[in-house]
Amino acid sequence: MIELIYYSIASPSLKKDDVSNILEVSRKNNIKNDITGCLLFYNDAFIQILEGSREIIDRLYAKIEQDERHYNIREVYNGDIPQRLFKDWSMAFYDLEKDAAAREDKLNFRKKFLAISEHNEQSTMASQLFWDISNQLLNE
Ligand code: FAD
Repeated sequence: MIELIYYSIASPSLKKDDVSNILEVSRKNNIKNDITGCLLFYNDAFIQILEGSREIIDRLYAKIEQDERHYNIREVYNGDIPQRLFKDWSMAFYDLEKDAAAREDKLNFRKKFLAISEHNEQSTMASQLFWDISNQLLNE
């Protein structure tokens, strides 16, 4: 079991509908492939954590890297994990707009993420990293 984390920048032409479409396809595929994780979309940046078998995650990441709906894709972590962090989520998703109306969504994200981390007996380096990067983005 591995965990892979990357971040990227949304293509300038990306619309809300495109994000919904990515999410819909991802959830369907991920259930089929026993992939779990979380996708955060904030201020034109994506950050995603993917969990699953090495072979399947590597194959998916190769596709994601070729996807023209985003660019500047940077892998920040790719390593073994003892257990899944997002075990009940084919792809948890948070769209955190940079306006006051989204403040509640941000709080929600933080609350949910903390709850997930607390339930995870062993907080992995990857989850810590994901958390740090997410917080950096949210505080920008
Ligand atoms: P196809 O639909 O045949 O894709 C063929 C090619 O077209 C691929 O290069 C694909 O990237 C691209 N493509 C597909 N639809 C569009 C479109 N509407 N506009 C532009 N290009 C398009 N997929 C998952 O299965 N799981 C994930 O967790 C996941 N996360 C993603 C996160 C981000 C930020 C992005 C941008 C994409 C993500 N994807 C995810 C989508 C992934 O890149 C593939 O599009 C998807 O897996 C389907 O690939 P395919 O080759 O089976 O399908």
